[in-house]
Amino acid sequence: MHGYQHTAVNMTCTALGCGALALFGYPQSATALAAGLAFGTLLVTPDLDLHLNDARRNWGPLRFIWVPYAALSKHRGMSHTFLAGPTIRLLYLALWVAPIVWLVSRFQPLTLPETSWRFLALAGIGYFFAQWLHLLCDGIYPDLPRSPSGNRRPSKARARRS
Ligand SMILES: [Zn+2]
Repeated sequence: MHGYQHTAVNMTCTALGCGALALFGYPQSATALAAGLAFGTLLVTPDLDLHLNDARRNWGPLRFIWVPYAALSKHRGMSHTFLAGPTIRLLYLALWVAPIVWLVSRFQPLTLPETSWRFLALAGIGYFFAQWLHLLCDGIYPDLPRSPSGNRRPSKARARRS
């Protein structure tokens, strides 16, 4: 699936899911989830393991921060897993952000209000949903073993059942 197709699927699901949540009376939760989904669709995606991709272009002049990540990641390797891949990308990004936060906090103490922690938790859930949507669109499912080539495919027993 091409990058623009991943973006279209994810943003459609975001609009439908978060729109429904807002209509049912949870506009703040919908906003937080939508922010996480947009972050995980437009900026931090499993395809950052490619040297050219839409997400990296969206980083503009900061796109260079993903060069080491792409150099160390095999396409559709660890980057395309359900828990490790998304978590590693967040930790990798934190390596870049943490020194800046530390430097700023030396001059201005940083604290988050209580509502921000709730917003961040929901945005985190939205981020993981975006990653999982991407993987499902790539035909990767959470409980399937890897083939020797690194791609995931159904086991023989599972294939016989379906
Ligand atoms: Zn992918």
